[in-house]
Amino acid sequence: MRSEPVLNEEEWTKLSEAVASVKYKKQKGSTSPTVGVTFCLLCGSALYFVKGDPAKGKHERYRCHGNKSKGIQACPKQRFWAEDLYPWLESTLLGEIGHLERMESTTIDDSRAAKLAVIDGKMNQLLKELQQDELSAVAYASQVASLAQDREKVTNLEGPKPVTVWTGTGESYAEWWERSSVDERREWLKKHKVKAYFGHDVLAVDPGDLIESIKQQGISYWDLPSKSSQVLSPITPISLHGKPYGKPKPLTGVEWEIVSRWEDFDAERTTQRAKGQEEAQGAGEVTVVPASA
Ligand SMILES: [Zn+2]
Repeated sequence: MRSEPVLNEEEWTKLSEAVASVKYKKQKGSTSPTVGVTFCLLCGSALYFVKGDPAKGKHERYRCHGNKSKGIQACPKQRFWAEDLYPWLESTLLGEIGHLERMESTTIDDSRAAKLAVIDGKMNQLLKELQQDELSAVAYASQVASLAQDREKVTNLEGPKPVTVWTGTGESYAEWWERSSVDERREWLKKHKVKAYFGHDVLAVDPGDLIESIKQQGISYWDLPSKSSQVLSPITPISLHGKPYGKPKPLTGVEWEIVSRWEDFDAERTTQRAKGQEEAQGAGEVTVVPASA
């Protein structure tokens, strides 16, 4: 006897859509654009987002709050303007991976857990209907019994071991970033376990499992960087202000990281802004650009 699949394809699609929409709604109320992603480089605690108040001339900002439950006090002076922090993170990350094809990981055969979740969901639904008198006790009992049988079948299935596969999406990380909302970006960064550790002179990004995608597409070493300020360890020396030039230990403690110096980012941004202004002014005009020394 052939057993019926627990869900047909249409039901699967509906279910995954429902799950996705619930997740998204939950996240929407978040006030921090980067909660779960940005941390203090000195103590490792999460950076807190502090809303601005334009009437009082207060900027949006992030600061280290420490971690009371771990007895970590807030780091003094670990404060970052939102208008600096987000672009710095964006530039650092996309500078390293922006040109690569966005890959997404799929874990094949997670189906057992998913099927069980669906059956449990249906059971809950039946219970609700029973409680609201939309279902007779007899109908409830027989439907639950049949679901319980399904459940047991699924539990006893011998499944192949889950395998994670990275597949290309046909667009670059930069393109995806551009078309995504701040919420979507944050959820995506969290999903891939990307963590950004901010200090005043340096930002170190733990690329999480994106490193697998980066490795597959080639890592830019220091002699061929997409940006001069960024390296992936292991590990190219960078010189930080006032510290000896040498092979630094990884700032994030992980094997691979993307590092950006504030002064490099700031200089680059200044140049870009100047260029943008020039272009805005220079439409139609002949501009004399002084030769650089
Ligand atoms: Zn701190």
